[in-house]
Amino acid sequence: MRILLAEDDDRIARDVLTTLTASGFLVDRERGGEETLFRGETEDYAAIVLDLGLPGMDGLTILRRWRAQGRATPVLILSARDAWTERVDGIDAGADDYLPKPFHMEEMLARLRAVVRRSAGQSAAVLKVGPLTLDTRQMRVSHDGIPLHLTPLEYRMLSYLLHHAGRVVPHQELASQLYADDAIKDGNAIEVLVGRLRRKLPDDLIETRRGFGYTIKGPVG
Ligand code: CA
Repeated sequence: MRILLAEDDDRIARDVLTTLTASGFLVDRERGGEETLFRGETEDYAAIVLDLGLPGMDGLTILRRWRAQGRATPVLILSARDAWTERVDGIDAGADDYLPKPFHMEEMLARLRAVVRRSAGQSAAVLKVGPLTLDTRQMRVSHDGIPLHLTPLEYRMLSYLLHHAGRVVPHQELASQLYADDAIKDGNAIEVLVGRLRRKLPDDLIETRRGFGYTIKGPVG
């Protein structure tokens, strides 16, 4: 899954980026407000981590603009610890959750996973479809209780499809959640990856809808 991280503090950004990358997320980072606004308007993200105090344009203004444009991407706000009124404004402006600074990376990760799940209509940290189980906390996948060994890219693809089980995920959307590079998005990398993933998974779990995309049939329990 692809995440936008908008944070001008390099030290915090580095820690968040390291944590998210180690947890299987693909991360784009922005430092400035206007760049952040633009990215959120032009790219598809599974979630956005938004610092309120950004140079150029503040986070609240950015969030209000996105919501006014009808963009429903889940947003986790980062704000100064004592600025509780800012957090209230943030929630009112359409944020899905907030985290006061300083924070533990584990808590940031748990909150981010939760907003991603909720926005996809899932509520549990462990996703199950038939004999398949994916634990988003441990990044582990098992089939009938037997662990499957997936590469980070395979895990990212399976996790996205499972979060959106029951819906056909278009090829382009899947590509934008997996690859930062536009050149890769246009090639047949997705087909190749689906093929590799299928060989490790129960038969027929991932369905191809030719001309539309891929789907995993729900329900997720
Ligand atoms: Ca800041």
